[in-house]
Amino acid sequence: MEILEKVKTRVYKFGNKTADGNSKMKNLLGGKGANLAEMSSLGIPVPPGFTITTEVCTEYNTLGKENVVELIKDELEESIANIETLMGSKFGDKTNPLLVSVRSGARVSMPGMMDTVLNLGINDEVVQGLAKKTNNEQFAWDSYRRFIQMYGGVVLGMKPASKEDIDPFEEIMEHLKHKRGIKLDTEFSVQDLKDLVYDFKEAVKKRTGHNFPTDPWDQLWGAIIAVFNSWNGDRAVYYRTMHGYPADWGTAVNVQAMVYGNMGENSGTGVCFTRDAGTGENVFNGEYLINAQGEDVVAGVRTPQQITHLGSQRWAELAKIEEEDRLKNYPSLEELMPSIFEELNTYQNVLEKHYRDMQDMEFTIQDGKLWILQTRNGKRTGAAMVKIAMDLLKEGMIDEKETLLRIEPNKLDELLHPIFDPDALKRSQVIAQGLPASPGAATGKIVFFADEAAKFKNSILVRIETSPEDLEGMNIAKGILTARGGMTSHAAVVARGMGKCCVSGAGALKINYKTRTLTVDGHEYHEGDWISLNGSTGNIFEGKVATMEPELSGEFAELMTLTDKYGQMKVRTNADTPKDAKVARNFGAQGIGLTRTEHMFFEVDRIKAMREMILADTVKGRKQALEDLLPMQRSDFEGIFEAMEGLPVTIRLLDPPLHEFVPHQLATQKELAEDMHISLQAVKNKVAELEEFNPMLGHRGCRLGNTYPEITEMQTRAIIEAALNLKARGINSKPEIMIPLVGTVKEFEAQEQIIRRTADVIFEERNDSIDYLVGTMIEVPRAALMADLIAEKADFFSFGTNDLTQMTFGYSRDDVGKFLPVYYEKGILKVDPFEVLDQEGVGQLVRLGTDRGRSSKPNLKIGICGEHGGEPSSIEFCYNLGMDYVSCSPYRVPIARLVSAQAAIKSTM
Ligand code: ADP
Ligand code: MG
Ligand code: MG
Repeated sequence: MEILEKVKTRVYKFGNKTADGNSKMKNLLGGKGANLAEMSSLGIPVPPGFTITTEVCTEYNTLGKENVVELIKDELEESIANIETLMGSKFGDKTNPLLVSVRSGARVSMPGMMDTVLNLGINDEVVQGLAKKTNNEQFAWDSYRRFIQMYGGVVLGMKPASKEDIDPFEEIMEHLKHKRGIKLDTEFSVQDLKDLVYDFKEAVKKRTGHNFPTDPWDQLWGAIIAVFNSWNGDRAVYYRTMHGYPADWGTAVNVQAMVYGNMGENSGTGVCFTRDAGTGENVFNGEYLINAQGEDVVAGVRTPQQITHLGSQRWAELAKIEEEDRLKNYPSLEELMPSIFEELNTYQNVLEKHYRDMQDMEFTIQDGKLWILQTRNGKRTGAAMVKIAMDLLKEGMIDEKETLLRIEPNKLDELLHPIFDPDALKRSQVIAQGLPASPGAATGKIVFFADEAAKFKNSILVRIETSPEDLEGMNIAKGILTARGGMTSHAAVVARGMGKCCVSGAGALKINYKTRTLTVDGHEYHEGDWISLNGSTGNIFEGKVATMEPELSGEFAELMTLTDKYGQMKVRTNADTPKDAKVARNFGAQGIGLTRTEHMFFEVDRIKAMREMILADTVKGRKQALEDLLPMQRSDFEGIFEAMEGLPVTIRLLDPPLHEFVPHQLATQKELAEDMHISLQAVKNKVAELEEFNPMLGHRGCRLGNTYPEITEMQTRAIIEAALNLKARGINSKPEIMIPLVGTVKEFEAQEQIIRRTADVIFEERNDSIDYLVGTMIEVPRAALMADLIAEKADFFSFGTNDLTQMTFGYSRDDVGKFLPVYYEKGILKVDPFEVLDQEGVGQLVRLGTDRGRSSKPNLKIGICGEHGGEPSSIEFCYNLGMDYVSCSPYRVPIARLVSAQAAIKSTM
């Protein structure tokens, strides 16, 4: 008996209101393919086509071209035949030809990452047939020259020779335009286009040594393989690494019948968004061009027109274009082709409702008929992300839980960045105006090339237009400014995705790459000059404009209120100053999880007293110096307690090795010797004495307090007296005194005794008292192991996962930079364990410490105060362990509040 094995499908068809796949199959069909299938099934007009699965890409990477061609040949031919039937034309036919596009599409959209080839299947004979069939020679030859240009660039590697050069095909076109005295591609005559095709093919032959492929099937295979290869191209690899997408996802390939936006005045192409991707405002918007194809709109060569009448008016105002001029030269689609606009408007509504999220769509109008070529959940800024989610909630499209889950935690960061100070703005000189492509405030020095973005600490990338090669530099730059391109240009779309400030299409800018200058109104700016961009208005300013802290307001504030409804784990902050404490409290911090007392000692007026304390030879001398420090510490604590009124404040006793405080330079050592009336040699001896082989494992943490109990006494006094002083002023404070680096129960006990005894003395002195807690950091592996015994004594635990990671891995945090890059490269480590908590290893100690601690004290209060307290995956881990709170830097507080809510929601799903 024959065993019938089900043959795996590698090619999925769509078109004519049906499809083999659907939008849930993104992993297999890629985002583009899955949505094309879904749209086809929804009855939306998409040109028929098929998707070669992402699995084939992976097969290609292991099996190679020959084998993969063998694997999919039959399915591919059958699928082309299907398109031929639906379109009533034939691939490669000389009288009635079918042309196709070959489009990449990974499971998540990677704008501009992978390459697309349009008008494939054309050659010297097919072009004649196409001209005759459509009775449009201009269109046929325009399509042919576009095909050679794209295929040459994508498949045959015809790229600019150096960064100062332009695309080799563009160069040929520029040359011809100059000769003919024309400006736009649309002005070429049929003869010009024929000449271009000839010249393009010559250029290909010269550069590659081969004739341009004429056989449509060869062209098709070449393009498919090129799409597979582009998955491992530099740009794609960079984008993948930036977002942590694994290499084995692969990309799908979509082959689809061409529809032509370049057939004349009754044709066109465009891009649209169901809501504003920059601000989130619920207005349909987008751009289009008449008699254009594919990327023309985003390439920014011609000035795109707006889709809606409203958008067009807003645009004209910014571009300083009179209404008359606007209507004549840049009418909206709504005005120019009202019925097409209505149809498009219907589809955008249908699609947004269907996907229940803002859609980013592509469309083409071929001779008065509308086709939709793509839809996807649109990339957006952090501000738009929040507004859209909250609006969808209010519109009843999604529920509260989904609203919270829709928010990408790290993207909230954008809303916490500084904004321009309105006063400083008024005083600043606007040098030009562009389009508000991606909101934000950016100040930096001008650079003209993406690969030079790192030249200055703060740079603004200034380009005529950007291209996918510029991605890395765009990410490094503080802001992006382009002379060309609209709201849907490459620069605009990518910047919004990154949440980076961008002003696009500032036509008044004259940029010269060779001389590295930017000229506006006769004024010249050079590389390294400061400029500032307001991505929300499109204003470009000369010089450096001052910024200020943002506020939680509007939808952002509403979202944060919503997080409190679902979040169970509290969020505290790490703050050493009243200022930080206030910032964090405004962001919703519910207390302080870590105040590092040593930072206070580094201030000029204090470091001297601190040094005198350290250098003192006797207990008496040390106490004397500590007396000087006491009032300073006390007033610091008063400030912090006041800022955090009524909320718990965890204060960690002195932690770092003492040698960090003593002077290592001769001049300062001399000064100190004089101040203290001791010899220079005595200072030098003491400094040498404090030198340690492994300071991180040396005389620090509670080892200090246990060898110098006076320090613990002074700090306790400062804390308790501060709280009593506030109490006298009617302000409630909740100090939690935290002992660092405990490894044995005895270490804890000895410190606790000093603290309690000191507090009792003060209570007696003052004849008053306050409540306070004494707890410990869990940051030495031994403490995690001994947690049950320590918990019998301690009021609370706070996991110090910086030190715990350091000691568990045995990696010095300060030296890890030397080998981490190699470890990433070799795949030994995927992420920096100091950034993302190593749940697998270090996490075991955290879990064990939590469980053992609670085994002897079930209500033990437990939190985390390492850097990990602000990192989303680590926060979720802490929630799942049942921690009471996470503590993070002030600017991470909103992010942690969101993740705390998300973790709670996820745990019920
Ligand atoms: P990307 O992923 O970079 O957006 P796409 O595959 O979407 O690349 O295609 C690039 C451009 O070509 C888009 O503007 C798209 O609308 C257009 N395009 C793709 N396929 C076709 C087609 N079959 N007919 C007409 N235009 C197409
Ligand atoms: Mg696209
Ligand atoms: Mg520590």
